[in-house]
Amino acid sequence: MNIHFNILKPQYLMFKEEYDKAVLEVLDSGWYILGKQVKRFEEEFAEYVGMKHCVGVNSGLDALILAIRALGIGKGDEVIAPANTYIASILGVTENGATPVFVEPDEFFNIDPSKIKAAITSKAKAILPVHLYGQPARMEEIMEIAREHNLYVVEDCAQAHGAIVNGRNIGTFGDINCFSFFPTKNLGAFGDAGAIVTNSEKLAEKVRMLRNYGSIKKYYHEIEGINSRLDELQAAVLRVKLRHINELEQERRIIAERYLTEIKNPLIELPKVSQNCKHVWHLFVIKCNQRDKLQAFLKDNGIDTKIHYPIPPHLSEAYQRLGYKKGDFPITEEYANTILSLPLYNGMTDEEINYVIGKLNEFRG
Ligand SMILES: *Cc1c(COP(=O)(O)O)cnc(C)c1O
Repeated sequence: MNIHFNILKPQYLMFKEEYDKAVLEVLDSGWYILGKQVKRFEEEFAEYVGMKHCVGVNSGLDALILAIRALGIGKGDEVIAPANTYIASILGVTENGATPVFVEPDEFFNIDPSKIKAAITSKAKAILPVHLYGQPARMEEIMEIAREHNLYVVEDCAQAHGAIVNGRNIGTFGDINCFSFFPTKNLGAFGDAGAIVTNSEKLAEKVRMLRNYGSIKKYYHEIEGINSRLDELQAAVLRVKLRHINELEQERRIIAERYLTEIKNPLIELPKVSQNCKHVWHLFVIKCNQRDKLQAFLKDNGIDTKIHYPIPPHLSEAYQRLGYKKGDFPITEEYANTILSLPLYNGMTDEEINYVIGKLNEFRG
C-alpha cells in the first residue's frame, strides 16, 4: 500500500460543486482583485476568529512581514521568537530589519514561557508565539510577560486555524495576528493566501495600505507599501472552505485520536496535548530516537513521512550572519533530530490509517 504524506485532491472533491461554482462566479464577474469576495471573506474570517478586523494578503509570510511593519518594528529592534519554528516566522522579523531573539520550546514544541524573561533586553519590542503543529502556545503566560514588559504580541497562527486555549481562540490574544492559507494548511486556498486579524482599526488600516502600494485612495500614496493582495479567486475558495472548516477539523481530530490511542510502540513517543486546549492537528509529530531508521522503514513500506523541520532557523544557512552554532539551542536541536510527521489529511481512509498504525507498531528498530 502507498500512503502519501498529504494529498489535496480528496478535499477538493469533497466540496467540488461549491468550489467550482464559486470560482466560475468570480471568473464571470470580471472583477479579480480586491472586490466583494475579499471583503466578504475578511468579514467572515474576522467573525470566525473573533476579532474586529481581518485584512487579506498574499501569503502567511506577508501577513507576518506586514504585521510587524505596521507595529513600527524595524532595524535595531528585537523580537522574541521560538527557536523551534518554521523559518517563515523568523523571516517576518528579519525582512523588517529587526533581530530575532530565540527561546527554547517546552514539551509541547511551542515557545517555553518560563524562558522568555531571560531573553528580553531593552531592545525588545514584541513576542512572536507560534502555535506549532496546531497546538496553542501558552498564551496566558505569554500575555502576562508581554504586559509586564510593555511588549507587543504577534501570534503566528499559520498552523492553527480554530485552535483554542482555555476557552479562547488563538488569534485573539496578540495585537495583530497572522494566518496562512497555503493549500496544505488547515484552511487552505488553491494557491497562496494569508491574512492578519486585529481589534485595532489603526493597525488594520495600516496593513490595508501596506498591502496595496501604501494607498487607500487609488493613486494617493501615504506610505511606502508593497503589493500583497489576496485575490478574488482565492477569497471565493476560502469562503467555501470556511463554511466546512468544522467538518474538516473533526476529520483530522478523528485520525489524530486514532494515532494517539492505537500507536503502541515503546520506541515511539506520541505528541503531548496540553490541558485545556484544543489542538487542531495541522501535523501529527512523533519523536523517535531512531528517527531516520523509522522513516526509512516506513518508506520501504510505502508510507511517506516528513520532518517539520530538519534544520532550525538558527542553524539555517540563510541565517549564518546571526552567528549561531550547533548546541546553542539544544532542545530545539534534539527535536529536529528526533521528530517525524505522520500522514494526516482530509480524505484519508480508514484502511490507510489502519495500515500506518500497523506499520508503526511493527517497527522494532
Ligand atoms: C506556512 C507557515 C508560514 C508561512 O505561510 P505562507 O503562506 O507559506 O507564506 C508562517 N509560519 C508558519 C508557522 C507556517 O507554518
